[in-house]
Amino acid sequence: MSAQILDGKLLAQQMRQRLRQARDQLGQRPVHLVSIEIGQNPAAAVYVRNQQRAAAEVGIAMEVRNLAIGTTQAQLVTAIGELNARPEVTGILVQRPLPPGIDPRTVQTAILPTKDVEGMHPENMGAILYREPALPPCTAAAAQHLIVATGIDLRGAETVVVGHSEIIGKPIAILLLHHLSTVTVCHVGTRKLIDHTRRADILVVAVGKAGLVHGDMIKPGACVIDVGINQAADGRIVGDVDFASANEVAGFLTPVPGGVGPVTVAMLLRNTLRAAGAAI
Ligand code: NAP
Repeated sequence: MSAQILDGKLLAQQMRQRLRQARDQLGQRPVHLVSIEIGQNPAAAVYVRNQQRAAAEVGIAMEVRNLAIGTTQAQLVTAIGELNARPEVTGILVQRPLPPGIDPRTVQTAILPTKDVEGMHPENMGAILYREPALPPCTAAAAQHLIVATGIDLRGAETVVVGHSEIIGKPIAILLLHHLSTVTVCHVGTRKLIDHTRRADILVVAVGKAGLVHGDMIKPGACVIDVGINQAADGRIVGDVDFASANEVAGFLTPVPGGVGPVTVAMLLRNTLRAAGAAI
């Protein structure tokens, strides 16, 4: 039997309808998101266009600022400082990848926590430890949302997160811990990955390695959330999980593309509305 596919596009579309209502309830209050990009990256350009389209659907003005390719970290931090000081700017987003020489953490820390719509400022990251933060990191919140949408009882469920990055693996682990699931976090130091993945009722993979997890590493009926985004040799975008073999074993499975990605964008818009004062 094949897995139930978790349709991130559909979930994101449903979220945008609710977000549109929340935006309308804000009335004349400004909701102004500024996205900063350094140089022109074709892959990032597609992502930014998707964000802009989704923002427009919800009624959010998203201004895109392209800074010159040689922009220094100090210049970027100054540009962020100017946006922090403008009351009509309610959200700030810095597109990745950043050029060499610019430290993502310094940049993220420069954004006012109340305008940090990606939820990556240390203050917002830290708030995760105290349950539902106002502005959670978007991808982690998206993974949580997809899992909760399945209706699986998370209490006591064996949850395995593969990957322990600050912006994805660690916050996902903490968010799922709040549901009283029993969380194991795997990483490069993990001795035998398969021993962990095989006993997972919920398996979240966030590494960035195509084909890292195969069907034989998955417990029958498990809920598998594939966060990875990789370009295959033939140019296709694929996740970290081998879709065909996982589909034969898993109970629920997110596709790539069309799984975590669209829900992440919807979470960005939810954070943008929250930063502008919406109670959503
Ligand atoms: P990252 O910072 O490179 O982190 C990757 C993590 O995987 C690290 O914790 C690393 O451990 C661990 N790892 C590496 N090899 C491993 C292995 N063989 N077994 C187990 N763990 C291993 O990447 P990231 O920013 O977290 O992103 C992860 C993936 O998510 C990427 O493909 C990225 O493109 C994708 N992504 C998706 C979305 C979305 O919306 N769907 C958003 C953002 C990112 P060490 O640190 O110890 O090496």
